[in-house]
Amino acid sequence: MKSSIHPNYFTDVPVQCTGCGMSFVTQSTKKSISVHVCSKCHPFYTGEQKFIDTKGKVEKFQKKMEQAKVHKVKLDEKKAKKAGKGGMKETKSLRELLADI
Ligand SMILES: [Zn+2]
Repeated sequence: MKSSIHPNYFTDVPVQCTGCGMSFVTQSTKKSISVHVCSKCHPFYTGEQKFIDTKGKVEKFQKKMEQAKVHKVKLDEKKAKKAGKGGMKETKSLRELLADI
C-alpha cells in the first residue's frame, strides 16, 4: 500500500436523516453524513404515499398542472366557438340543393 494517497477512513460515522430524524452509524471516508430520506421514512419502505419535496418542486408542478387545466378549458371554448361558426357555413347536400329549386 502506497503511503499518503489513501483517504482517512472513519469507522464510526454518524448518518443523520433530515426527513425523520433517525440516525445510525456507518463507516466512510467522510466524518459525518446527512441525508434527506432514509429506510425509515422512504415511501418505498413505509408503503404510504408522501411527497418528498425539499425545493418546492411538487408545488411548482401542481401549479403548472392547474394552469394547463385552465388553458385546456379556454382552448375547448375556442374550439366550440369555431365549430359553431363552421356550423353556420355548413355546405348543403345535393338533395337539399335540389329541394331548394
Ligand atoms: Zn428518514
